Amino acid sequence: MRLEESRAVFTVPNRFFAEWIAERYSALLGEALNLETGRSLDAAFEVSPYQAQAKSAVIQPSSPKAPPAGINLNSTYTFDSFVVGPCNELAHAACMAVADAPGGQYNPLMIFGGSGLGKTHLVSAVANHLVSREPAYQVHYTSSEAYSNELIQAVRFDGIQSFRDKYRRVDGLIIEDIQFLSGRERTQEEFFHTFDALFQAGRQIVLTSDKLPRDIPGLASRLRTRFEWGLLADLQTPDTETKLAILQRKASDKGVVINRQVASYLANQPESSIRVLEGYLNRLVAVSRLRGAEVSLELARQVLGPLASENLVGVEDVLRVVATHFGVRPADIKSSRKSRDISRPRQVTMYLARRLTNASFPEIGQALGGKDHSTVVKGVQRVEKLMAQDPELADTLRVVENAVRQLKQGD
Ligand code: ADP
Ligand code: MG
Repeated sequence: MRLEESRAVFTVPNRFFAEWIAERYSALLGEALNLETGRSLDAAFEVSPYQAQAKSAVIQPSSPKAPPAGINLNSTYTFDSFVVGPCNELAHAACMAVADAPGGQYNPLMIFGGSGLGKTHLVSAVANHLVSREPAYQVHYTSSEAYSNELIQAVRFDGIQSFRDKYRRVDGLIIEDIQFLSGRERTQEEFFHTFDALFQAGRQIVLTSDKLPRDIPGLASRLRTRFEWGLLADLQTPDTETKLAILQRKASDKGVVINRQVASYLANQPESSIRVLEGYLNRLVAVSRLRGAEVSLELARQVLGPLASENLVGVEDVLRVVATHFGVRPADIKSSRKSRDISRPRQVTMYLARRLTNASFPEIGQALGGKDHSTVVKGVQRVEKLMAQDPELADTLRVVENAVRQLKQGD
């Protein structure tokens, strides 16, 4: 509610909330306040009867006059703030084309891809672009869940006609996460009519989904075929270079500088969701501010090591896969035998361990039967050099690398 000299005042609906929050979160709130304001403030709580009323009002059926439930468009998700790489280039180009010529040849446009790969960012960029270019252009941005809830609400209160009018009047419609239409027959029925009305009037429709239409269970076939009429563009998992560029971009948007080592440590996490990587970055920045410490590689390892290690492969995993692939025993790789048929898989293990795990050179050496730091460095360099000369080896290594990654995903 307000900041006073030495405290920040929050309003809560009753005393129970005040005590509950104060007991559990005072310290955390204090830290967060300090981080935001640079001052040392205590969190204080006031009971507001108004809030108490508002709370109970939520339990009542919502009033027929409630504004349509959409979802919020994030104005910072623009084409400008989107980093283009091989993994998202097609989807990016498709969205740009639609933003420039809505209702044109790519209708509907469907962006699909796994969670955290940038679907929402891209389609929001389309909406933001359309509105900024032509303020009278009416683009409605919502999700299939919100659409469905709104429909239920309309059936109960507002009347279905005003719902239909509203949706058929828009110039552009963006619906997120249409995989949630799965099994909702009434919503699908209505959406079919919305879709056709807009499509026939040449209005742009943009959809996102984490599955291909044909893989959405319980999706009516007439919708499926319509979703496939236009352009389907997918978002692939990002490669390390793109992850690196995105992380650097996000850091600079936040006004923090991260050096190349830290950025590359983050980008080399096996995690492919940009959302999760951004979470790592946020956490790192928050801890560095709290401690007044620089964002260094050591800090990154300290803060993220335990988080990241859950999905991270270990040297042992790499060892196992490489040994199998080259038809040798893990014990051979750990031995000090120097023959080529053993030393090559050993070098490959070092190289992949460096690429795929969190382990330092000495740690890798340790796990491989006590090799020293410089042996590991040389092994890694050797493989890098060989790969540059020998595309076949490079291919083999990609296969082995994927096998290691899959091993972890299957866990
Ligand atoms: P999705 O909707 O596919 O689950 P989001 O669009 O919400 O994913 O993306 C998750 C986060 O990653 C967002 O903060 C978004 O800005 C960011 N992001 C994803 N891809 C990119 C990119 N290519 N450039 C910049 N930021 C990106
Ligand atoms: Mg999304």
